[in-house]
Amino acid sequence: MPNEIPRLKLDDLQSDFPGVFDSAKYVDVGIGWLPLIREFIATALPLDPSLSVMEMKQKWGCLRIWSDTPVIGARLAKVKAEIKSSYVCEVCGEPAFVRRPPPGRYAWWQCLCDEHASPDQRSWGTRLQGPMYGYAQVEGSWYRYDEDADVMVPSEPPARWR
Ligand SMILES: [Zn+2]
Repeated sequence: MPNEIPRLKLDDLQSDFPGVFDSAKYVDVGIGWLPLIREFIATALPLDPSLSVMEMKQKWGCLRIWSDTPVIGARLAKVKAEIKSSYVCEVCGEPAFVRRPPPGRYAWWQCLCDEHASPDQRSWGTRLQGPMYGYAQVEGSWYRYDEDADVMVPSEPPARWR
C-alpha cells in the first residue's frame, strides 16, 4: 500500500487565501503541493480579483485545479501549477516524479520523492515523460511550460496535434 499523504485542509486554505476557496466543494491534495497552489494564487489573483477555486484533487499523480477564471494569465498560472506538480513530492515538496505502477498492476499513481515513495514504488523505475508533457491548450491556443524560465510560453501544438 502506498503511504497515506497528509492532506491540505479546506479551512486552512479558506483562511490563508480569503475569498478564493469560499465556494470550494472538494479539496483533496497533499501538503507538499501547497507552494504550487500559493504560487498559482499569487499570480492569478491580481489578474482576476474574483478568482474562485471550486475543486482541487490529484489525478494520475498530478495536481488538478478547477477554477473557471476567464482571464488567460490566471488560467496559465493554473496549468503551470498542474504541470509543475509532476516534479514535486505531494508529501514534502521536494523534487520528485510520478510513480507509475507497471502494466497490469493495480495501484495509485503518486508523485513522490525517493524518501516518501515506498520500496515498492521505488522499484517501479524512473520518470516517464509523455509527448503531451508541458503542453496546455488555453482558449484555443497552445502553450508550453519553459522549465528554465519557469513560465508558460506560446507554442506550436504538440506533435500529435499538428
Ligand atoms: Zn517527499
